[in-house]
Amino acid sequence: MKFFDVIIIGAGGAGLMCAIEAGRRGRQVALLDHGAKVGAKIFISGGGRCNFTNLDAGPGNYVSQNPHFCKSALSRYKPSDFIQMVRDHRIPFHEKKLGQLFCDRSAADIVEMLVSECEKAGARFLLNCHVQKVEKPGAFQIQTSQGDLSCGSLVVATGGLSIPKVGATDLGYRVARQFGLQIVEPSPALDGFRFNEKDLKRFGDLTGVSVECQVTCNGVSFRENVLFTHAGLSGPAALQASLYWHPGMPVELDFLPTFGPQALEKWFRKKKEKGVKSEVKTVLGELLSKRLAEKLCELDLPAHAHLASLPDKKIGDFCGHLQSFTLTPASTMGYGKAEVTRGGVDTDELSSKTLECKRLPGLYFIGEVVDVTGWLGGFNFQWAWSSGWAAGQVV
Ligand SMILES: Cc1cc2nc3c(=O)[nH]c(=O)nc-3n(C[C@H](O)[C@H](O)[C@H](O)COP(=O)(O)OP(=O)(O)OC[C@H]3O[C@@H](n4cnc5c(N)ncnc54)[C@H](O)[C@@H]3O)c2cc1C
Repeated sequence: MKFFDVIIIGAGGAGLMCAIEAGRRGRQVALLDHGAKVGAKIFISGGGRCNFTNLDAGPGNYVSQNPHFCKSALSRYKPSDFIQMVRDHRIPFHEKKLGQLFCDRSAADIVEMLVSECEKAGARFLLNCHVQKVEKPGAFQIQTSQGDLSCGSLVVATGGLSIPKVGATDLGYRVARQFGLQIVEPSPALDGFRFNEKDLKRFGDLTGVSVECQVTCNGVSFRENVLFTHAGLSGPAALQASLYWHPGMPVELDFLPTFGPQALEKWFRKKKEKGVKSEVKTVLGELLSKRLAEKLCELDLPAHAHLASLPDKKIGDFCGHLQSFTLTPASTMGYGKAEVTRGGVDTDELSSKTLECKRLPGLYFIGEVVDVTGWLGGFNFQWAWSSGWAAGQVV
């Protein structure tokens, strides 16, 4: 049986970062993955350009049963620390919007950087390596398709369940359960909404329409684009809102968030006072795409309603609907579309400083497998780097 100081299961962002830090400390590290290559999700992230961090990442950008848990790791390994590594490797990058940093060339730059740092730190890669059993008679023993291994510190960095075709499995949750740890029920997140049957009929013909919108769910609002798809709502604002959604909850859309309360009604009334003779859908078409304007009028007003003949009260009600349009999704889109998995190993089980299990010293959980889930926009990688770094200091 081969012994390592540290075995990390999962060579994604969190596992790679942990291997670098532990290796730099002189620990003998094996980084094991069932895939043929490391960082599979990094390659496909950010549309192939990897949104590797967010300049503004802070605890408020994460969802967890314990919103304070992520504070320690995020404050000790910051976006600026990762950016420094990216600069040291002369990887060109840019801010796309809202603090989101992307590679100019390709996500492969980030994987190459992490692999070369792992190699410098002496970490050993075991790829195509399938874990069959994990036990702890004394040291941890791991039965794998490449033989039996043992270690003093076992780090589980197997990620979440989203996008099964790039290698997601539930091994991390199984290991946690095996050792009696609590799991916050995992569910797909950052995956947008699936229409209920009624809304599918109402909005099915809007496929492809994109609108800047404010989407509110469970008291949290995001203002970005929403895209109508053949099945539901996608686009950044819908993806973000889906992180906060639970079955049965309504989702509110403000189609004209640039107008404050009453301002939209005033805008319509002014047009009416000026004697504008057009149909309401034509007037609304000055603010929204023609297809969306027509649809919203069709849902709320008589056919061919003219602004001039619309009572002021009706204008007020119509504006109310445009700015707080409520629908109840049937579900979110599921793991096939989800960027992340919400839930995971209960943070009550872990030290927020080291990510070590309180009840089982030597066992660590880092990255997405933990019940810490970030917004869209580089926050999930920052959690992977920060939590991997934190464990890497002590394993
Ligand atoms: C399409 C897509 C795009 C994304 N884009 C971004 C983005 O631009 N910015 C951002 O911040 N976040 C993005 N994310 C989220 C981000 O990729 C994840 O949050 C992050 O990769 C989590 O890192 P991790 O190391 O915890 O897990 P992962 O990166 O998922 O790594 C887990 C590793 O464990 C391995 N593994 C799993 N099961 C086993 C097993 N049984 N045996 C051995 N090995 C196993 C996997 O092969 C994988 O290599 C995106 C996600 C997706 C799906």
